[in-house]
Amino acid sequence: MTDATATADAAELSAAERDRILAKAALFSPPAATLADGRRELVGLSREELVEEMVAIGEKPFRAKQLWHWIYHQGVTDFSRMPTIARTMQAKLEERFVIGRPGVTTEQTSTDGTRKWLFGFRDGQQVETVYIPDEDRGAVCISTQVGCTLSCKFCHTGTQKLVRNLGAAEIVGQFMAARDSYGEWPSPTDGTPRMLSNIVIMGMGEPLYNYENVAKAMRIVMDGEGIGLSKRRITLSTSGVVPMMDKCGAELGVGLAVSLHAVRDEVRDEIVPLNRKYPIDELLAACRRYPGATNARRITFEYVMLKGINDSEADARELVRLIKGIPAKVNLIPFNPWPGSPYETSSNNAIHRFADIVLEAGYASPVRKPRGRDILAACGQLKTESERQRPVRAGAAVMKAAAA
Ligand code: SAH
Ligand code: SF4
Repeated sequence: MTDATATADAAELSAAERDRILAKAALFSPPAATLADGRRELVGLSREELVEEMVAIGEKPFRAKQLWHWIYHQGVTDFSRMPTIARTMQAKLEERFVIGRPGVTTEQTSTDGTRKWLFGFRDGQQVETVYIPDEDRGAVCISTQVGCTLSCKFCHTGTQKLVRNLGAAEIVGQFMAARDSYGEWPSPTDGTPRMLSNIVIMGMGEPLYNYENVAKAMRIVMDGEGIGLSKRRITLSTSGVVPMMDKCGAELGVGLAVSLHAVRDEVRDEIVPLNRKYPIDELLAACRRYPGATNARRITFEYVMLKGINDSEADARELVRLIKGIPAKVNLIPFNPWPGSPYETSSNNAIHRFADIVLEAGYASPVRKPRGRDILAACGQLKTESERQRPVRAGAAVMKAAAA
């Protein structure tokens, strides 16, 4: 076999794998964005879809542009508060559409200023979202799935089965509801500082297993006539869904964070079980070809520090060897415990020795300060009570009825 055929075969395999992942994601689709009264949710529609909705009710396409401005730039949720739209038209829109937000089930603020919301959706499912303020800016950590199919050993979300994927409206909605909570509307335009300035897709779930909805939501967030957040302010974290990484880079160009956490396959197989499918060398190859990775836009390798598991000096040296040539920084995350978690956090000494070796090799190696631990809002502590609904089996129901 020539090199060229081998490469072509690999590309074909990876395309097939991508299709399989997208098809599987569709099995966990969110419910339709229509209310019981038949009104359609407008949040989460692409611009093109919004135009289609307007045309379908006999309106001109420019209405979509007006609505877009009110929904995403001004943050308005009520048609009667859109003065550029005539009263009769407002009433017509109100009959047919809604501009929704996830419901706030609880909101907690940590002693360090971190805020966490438990948001509920129309079907009763829930996710958590966190805002982590910094001096003059802050990041909103967004969830993409209710639960997760991957069961990384150190992650609280990983103990919760995947219930379903979030829809684009639910993903953008988390950011919009967080902005509501801080009153940050209209969207600050260029130059004006933003409190909610960044998005990190690092909440519950694996974003590359819900790619279509995540991509749609990010296109809405990045649209310059709405929220207008630049792709440089968005970072997507993946546990290493290799076949989807190229697509994400080519289509969205957002910053990439990779949950590496171990430098040997035996260890990574154990703590990030997805490694059995996409081992370290394949993952790093995907990082090497990630479009847009430059020194100005480095890939972040996340590395959770687990005492006695992955935190030795030899591990640090191996890490440096593995990522050689990749424009990268290494984010060291002290393990955040949760009730029943099987690991301990590495000692401060071990973390700093590790950080120094990585730094000496020329890679920034910040140690992430745990934020919001007191309200279980830190990395990997998020979990909800949502459970997958079991399909009711007719036979079982009959048997129960007979027994009663
Ligand atoms: N599923 C994606 C994004 C969500 S997890 C992913 O795995 O990358 C966001 C980050 O938190 C990941 O790097 C994850 O490995 C890390 N994390 C999970 N549990 C953690 C814990 N208990 N302590 C510290 N970091 C954790
Ligand atoms: Fe899922 Fe990420 Fe948690 Fe792993 S670390 S179980 S991929 S949310």
